Amino acid sequence: MASVELHQVTKSYDGKTTVVHGIDLEVAHGEMVVFVGPSGCGKSTLLRMIAGLEGISGGEVRIDGRRVNEVAPRDRDIAMVFQDYALYPHKTLYDNMAFGLRLRKTPETEIRTRVLDAARLLRIDHMLERKPSALSGGQRQRVAIGRAIVRQPKVFLFDEPLSNLDAQLRTEMRSEIKKLHQRLGATIIYVTHDQVEAMTLADRIAVLSAGNKVQYATPQDVYNTPAALFVASFTGSPPMNLVPCRVEAGHAVLGDVAVTLPPDLVQRAGAAQSHTFGIRPENISLADHGGVPVPAHVVITEPLGAETLVTFAVGACELVARCSASFREAPGSARTIYLASAAMHLFDSASGLAV
Ligand code: ADP
Repeated sequence: MASVELHQVTKSYDGKTTVVHGIDLEVAHGEMVVFVGPSGCGKSTLLRMIAGLEGISGGEVRIDGRRVNEVAPRDRDIAMVFQDYALYPHKTLYDNMAFGLRLRKTPETEIRTRVLDAARLLRIDHMLERKPSALSGGQRQRVAIGRAIVRQPKVFLFDEPLSNLDAQLRTEMRSEIKKLHQRLGATIIYVTHDQVEAMTLADRIAVLSAGNKVQYATPQDVYNTPAALFVASFTGSPPMNLVPCRVEAGHAVLGDVAVTLPPDLVQRAGAAQSHTFGIRPENISLADHGGVPVPAHVVITEPLGAETLVTFAVGACELVARCSASFREAPGSARTIYLASAAMHLFDSASGLAV
């Protein structure tokens, strides 16, 4: 296993259109890093530059300390798993998994050991004589992962590997991949547009937007201290409540309601008045645990079984709160809600960055 370092990595097409803007990032030995962001933000391009499938227009990629900009993909010691599996339809699973090793003239006894080990790990060892057409989507994706494992690469690169699977299978395969990472202790870079996949799988998440790295941190930090409005709106389900506000005399004024802000946030907000106020649904409470009281009215309740999401009107704006499943109040009822000071966020309106 190995580290991966990106130094000021840039990608331009035709020398004009730049789609990746000078990204710096390091992935530690054995770490699982997820590149996440909306479609078109450059995550696949970045992954393909690490793999060597795309040229690097500027900067440097290092794998295990070695500059690989000019190294051919097959000599980078990486293995890639794609969304569309890319299996050979006429070969058996065994032959699909063995193919890359045979090309490299690995002895057949060694190939057999590695294929059987990987197949057992992925629980496909009872179907090695089948062809891909006789498998479900999830089984095919296991074969594609097995083919990567037998290579014993320094780094695994996964490009949206679960996007073709239905929701239930995606959840199952997600935990399989997590277990696999724990067992193999492998260095993995994983690309997805799905924030839940990013949060659940990653040791660290690189959030990308328009070819820039917006934040690179643990899932907990990305969730609790989003570096920008974009990150705040992208993580969490339901996402953070985000409301335009003015900051005046230590308060965030949301329409006609003033919410007392913690002093450190007021200080960081500085002289600029126009901000977006943010608070996550679980940081709004119906009980007074020392939060900031705000008068509100129930707008709608959405029971989810284990909990109920309640939308409250606060002046002219709305805030969603995560409440207990026993919440029973009718729409229109007046209610004081309490906002946890330590969980309040402000984002600068001009830059979108957290203050
Ligand atoms: P993501 O994986 O985040 O969806 P991509 O890395 O595929 O995004 O693409 C990043 C950007 O690069 C997109 O705006 C895309 O249109 C652009 N792009 C990709 N390939 C080419 C190309 N061959 N020529 C010009 N632009 C491209």
